[in-house]
Amino acid sequence: MKAEIIAVGTELLLGQIVNTNAQYLSQELAALGIDVYFQTVVGDNRKRFAQAVETAGARADLLIFTGGLGPTQDDLTKEALAEVLGRPLHIDPEAMANIDRFFKDRGVPMTENNRRQALAIDGGTPLPNETGLAVGDAIEDGGKFYIVLPGPPKEMKPMFERQAKPWILNHALSEEMPIYSKMLKFAGIGESALETKLLDLIQEQSDPTVAPYAKEGEVTIRVSTKAASEREAMEKLDAMEREIASRLPEHLYANADMPIEQKILELMAQRGLTLSAAESCTGGLLMEMITAIPGSSAVFMGGIVCYSNAMKEKLLHVPHELLEGDGAPGAVSAETARVLAEQVRLTADTDFGLSITGVAGPGASERKPAGLVYIAISRRGGDTAVYELNLKGNREAVRMRSAKTILYRLWR
Ligand code: ATP
Ligand code: MG
Repeated sequence: MKAEIIAVGTELLLGQIVNTNAQYLSQELAALGIDVYFQTVVGDNRKRFAQAVETAGARADLLIFTGGLGPTQDDLTKEALAEVLGRPLHIDPEAMANIDRFFKDRGVPMTENNRRQALAIDGGTPLPNETGLAVGDAIEDGGKFYIVLPGPPKEMKPMFERQAKPWILNHALSEEMPIYSKMLKFAGIGESALETKLLDLIQEQSDPTVAPYAKEGEVTIRVSTKAASEREAMEKLDAMEREIASRLPEHLYANADMPIEQKILELMAQRGLTLSAAESCTGGLLMEMITAIPGSSAVFMGGIVCYSNAMKEKLLHVPHELLEGDGAPGAVSAETARVLAEQVRLTADTDFGLSITGVAGPGASERKPAGLVYIAISRRGGDTAVYELNLKGNREAVRMRSAKTILYRLWR
């Protein structure tokens, strides 16, 4: 099954809006195992719209349109598609009732052009709009499938998810085998290093297919396969997971979509362990990440944001000589990181104490370069491990990676 996404709107061609709908739809279609070989953008022009449909129809089985379902004259998608397909249009009664109700509730008269938003193509399946007025459409015609969605993302996404996707599964994909996938999560490794290790699997489009993507300091691999039964799929997916795990044993931390902080909280909760943190250059980012996970209170007791030297001294008893004076190691040092982790652990009376102190940038500090960060992990009855990091990227990236790296070290 091959699909083409056709975004309609002169605003897109003029660069006034970004085509995020195509990005969303491409991701969704990939997850359904549908190949997208082309994305098209066409302006609000009937003739060029017809050309775009003809071109797409020659190379794809499923055409998905977004935009141009509104009430105004430039919104022409449904009329233009009806013309290309040689099918008449009618007013969908449910959509019309929805529009009438909308205006009645607000006590404003409905203008005639709003009726256009209830137009549906004869022989199609109207797709109700739960967050707006324009009805969508799904049509099967001459062995091809057409889906018409609104432009505003807040209308398009729910309509795709709740109306169009089930229709695609039942009509366009009903003859094909369902797709199964599994998410593998990695830490302590960048996207390009990870890709290098898996290049053969990614490039040869093996079965299962292996596709990486990175977001905010994490790398995810989606492993997908088509199979007649769930059992058969799981066997293939598990085998591929073992292959990948054998190549990256120290980085694969989960085989479900979860951030590393969640994994750590799960592991610590199982073992009844507790955690506290002292943060300097991350200013609470680590604690924010941890406490964003529901149930974190079972493990995470609290922490201290000790941004200034004075706070490091007063609240966490870092010796003054360590922080200031000629030849002192300074706030950004292995020594300070060690004291911070040990002291926060003692103060909070937890099994583990974490600390982060570094130069987030953009400029240097204490004559140390941006990206130099020390992290430490202190454990009850054990040694304190200190790591020096030399991180690249802007302030935001340095802070995010510092927090993710200490979580990775804790997991290891
Ligand atoms: P409306 O009823 O708002 O007119 P519509 O279905 O006619 O909706 P358009 O007129 O094409 O859609 O676009 C309306 C708005 O939706 C745009 O101004 C833009 O904010 C957003 N939009 C449209 N197409 C896209 C797209 N491809 N990606 C992201 N946003 C889009
Ligand atoms: Mg419009």
